[in-house]
Amino acid sequence: MELEPVKERVSGAVEDLSLCICNAGFKSEFSSQETWLLTRSTYAQTDWAKSVWFSQATPKYAFISWLAMLDRLATMDRIVRWSSGVDDTCVLCKSALESRSHLFFECSYSSQLWEHLVLGVVGNLYTTVWTSILDLLKRPERDKRKLFCLRYAFQVAIYVIWRERNKIKHGEKPLPVIVVKKLVDKEVRNKLSLMKSKGCKGMELALQYWFSTRV
Ligand SMILES: [Zn+2]
Repeated sequence: MELEPVKERVSGAVEDLSLCICNAGFKSEFSSQETWLLTRSTYAQTDWAKSVWFSQATPKYAFISWLAMLDRLATMDRIVRWSSGVDDTCVLCKSALESRSHLFFECSYSSQLWEHLVLGVVGNLYTTVWTSILDLLKRPERDKRKLFCLRYAFQVAIYVIWRERNKIKHGEKPLPVIVVKKLVDKEVRNKLSLMKSKGCKGMELALQYWFSTRV
């Protein structure tokens, strides 16, 4: 059977990643500098790479976003291809097939987070459609702060949604959306504060910018 090695490879990769993420914790840096450098150099030339591997990105968030962009997360629409009979319903909203584009961010659970994070940043360009979101991330933007906030919020949102989804799969309860909103918002603010204290060029007023986009 062709499918078995593929299945093993995919689930193995995701498990390894989960382990890394668990060990790294929510605030620590991703442990493997080598992986970071490898993925940066390997994918530096692809169309969307710059919107993932950008300066000051947090490796554990960038990495999971990179897997999502490659459609390599073990979403149920992919799992049913090699394991028939499994329930492919989204565990967050329980009302649609779980796929990458559903989870990020058409799902009624994750779309609430996404809207909270980026509506004030992108205004009338707001969308929950995966391909349109990627277009937004790639879009040339003169305002460095705006682009950073959009890309960073996107990555933390992907990480947290995937984590909540996995918690349910392992029999745990997901965090209420209102808690997730506060958590991700705080993560973005912490990052912007850190960049300010490090004197990152063009990011001095980024935190004020982020506050101004809260609607
Ligand atoms: Zn859903």
